[in-house]
Amino acid sequence: MGERLHNFSAGPGVLPESVLIEVRDELLCFRDAGASIMEISHRSPQYTSVVESARELLRELLGLDPSWHILFLQGGASMQFYQVPLNFLTPGNAAAYVNTGAWSKKAIAEAQRIGHTEVVASSADTGFDQIPERSTWKSIADPAYTHITTNNTIFGTQFASDPEVEGVVVADMSSDFLSRPVRLDDYGLIYAGAQKNLGPAGVTVVLIKDDFLQRRNADLPTMLDYGTHAAKLFNTPPVFAVYVVEKVLQWIKAGGGLDEMARRNEQKAGLIYSVIDASDFYSGVAKHGHRSLMNITFRLPAPEQETAFVDRAKAEGLVALKGHRSAGGIRASTYNACPTDSVRALAAFMTEFERTAG
Ligand SMILES: *Cc1c(COP(=O)(O)O)cnc(C)c1O
Repeated sequence: MGERLHNFSAGPGVLPESVLIEVRDELLCFRDAGASIMEISHRSPQYTSVVESARELLRELLGLDPSWHILFLQGGASMQFYQVPLNFLTPGNAAAYVNTGAWSKKAIAEAQRIGHTEVVASSADTGFDQIPERSTWKSIADPAYTHITTNNTIFGTQFASDPEVEGVVVADMSSDFLSRPVRLDDYGLIYAGAQKNLGPAGVTVVLIKDDFLQRRNADLPTMLDYGTHAAKLFNTPPVFAVYVVEKVLQWIKAGGGLDEMARRNEQKAGLIYSVIDASDFYSGVAKHGHRSLMNITFRLPAPEQETAFVDRAKAEGLVALKGHRSAGGIRASTYNACPTDSVRALAAFMTEFERTAG
């Protein structure tokens, strides 16, 4: 077996090593089940205790009161792009969308299939290097909801804080979910594909406030109706993915919860941004004040140098640093589970690469 490398993958991303070891240890036989978690009923007491624990941990970490439903759905965040407007974009109202990059654009395209969709702010003009200032957002009358993408995985920008918006906010938090505390009052629905910051691919966590849920459209297809999943365990959930997510939630709690995640994430990202800021060789993609603590994007003076950077980093055990194919450059994803040691190794490599190749 090869050794584990310093992994900066944007998604699926790194998982805590202790979680992987526990999964390995339980793989053949889960507790008293006499079988693995993958081989027993999703209505068994063993799985029920796992999913109940995951819900309890989410409530505790985020401070969710009982008016919030917690759903574990399939179809990825990409399915939410369609499911949200299908449920909540009513014929009489428009939905407001903030366009901050590739994932926002996909969400907007799906909403447009359903009904009236207004892009109230966009940073497309500046190459998605920032979050549009709140004061510049167009206001529309009585929107069904306002959709934002809190962290832009590809371009490396992030809302610095929860947005102040009148009415209900729906947020795609796929790439910064549980990376910091959230002011829940601002939101009606939050969704996150697990494979960035929360667990393996295959499950999407959806949090919905009950009063918002009650406003959904009638006669929805059963599987796409949030009400179906809020009411009961309707069909087979992604058992294995939920099981791993539960372990990651335990790991977050044991590590000090969301305040501590936020502190560590700021510290880790700070190690890389300070190398960028001290250098004329590296240049950050995102504007100051809009920089992501999860996906750090930067450029080198020439594309050939970027290729050399990625290759030499790989030879030294630092992998998955190539920017998204649509954006180019370098991207280091430093999610919750990315160890500080990996980030220190990257900062040291950057300094050394600049000295020898710059
Ligand atoms: C990765 C990502 C998605 C897409 O997630 P899938 O689970 O692959 O559908 C959506 N939004 C954001 C912000 C992402 O980072």
